[in-house]
Amino acid sequence: LPEPEAEALQDAEVAALLPVPTASSDKYRRGVVGVVAGSSQYPGAAVLAVSGALRGGAGAVRYVGPAADAVLARYPETLIGRGRVQAWVVGPGLGSGRAAEVAEVLADPVPVLVDADGLRGLDPEVLRGRPAPTLLTPHAGEAAALLGASRQEVEAARLTSVRALAVKYGAVALLKGSTTLVAAAGGPVRVNPTGTPWLATAGSGDVLSGLTGSLLAAGLDALDAASVGAYLHGLAARRAASGAPLLAQHIADSLPEAWRQHP
Ligand code: AMP
Ligand code: MG
Repeated sequence: LPEPEAEALQDAEVAALLPVPTASSDKYRRGVVGVVAGSSQYPGAAVLAVSGALRGGAGAVRYVGPAADAVLARYPETLIGRGRVQAWVVGPGLGSGRAAEVAEVLADPVPVLVDADGLRGLDPEVLRGRPAPTLLTPHAGEAAALLGASRQEVEAARLTSVRALAVKYGAVALLKGSTTLVAAAGGPVRVNPTGTPWLATAGSGDVLSGLTGSLLAAGLDALDAASVGAYLHGLAARRAASGAPLLAQHIADSLPEAWRQHP
């Protein structure tokens, strides 16, 4: 089969979608994003996901998981423990054996972004039955597991794969890699025009998850949140790297500059 066409999101479209507070805004109306991430093995993933979420445009970030001390040490702005949220991010650094927590998040009727270890063993029927949008953000290896294919098959047909993910799971899919693709079931495929190979570094995907979840909580639909999230993430990474090795934490630190750089 021929690969379907992809379109690039334009700078002006991104600028129009950024959630900017107004005089009548309060932190709850700007959106609260919940982050279920981290484990004793990977506490840093929780910190990095929260860092992206705090920079993403929601009014507050709520963290649920075993890395609360590490999160608070770095980001005292974070709320801790379960509560009402407008969107969830679940998966970065969860490790194994956390399926019940993933299921609990998926049962909440708000948008959910599922990444990393949260993508293990996802049931298409459960996702298709959700009353709110789901956004999946796999890299090629995770996408292969979700599709029952090999990593090589996904890499050889990235456009077809991202569409197949969206259709199979009734979700918006964001496929990470040297270019990032976003697709909604039966809809267009968007290709992200920003980014840098320096993004191939530990933790960069965790920042993207938090950032994109925050955009969901702020009210962007899943396709737009994914597109704008990837766009800002790539722009921030370019600024943070500027031709030298990049730390994932510095992507989050450069997000305000990326945000302001807008036409
Ligand atoms: P993860 O694999 O979850 O840590 O996410 C890695 C992040 O880095 C994603 O945003 C990828 O799209 C991005 N990335 C990985 N490799 C490359 C590459 N070679 N060029 C550009 N971006 C990349
Ligand atoms: Mg990842």
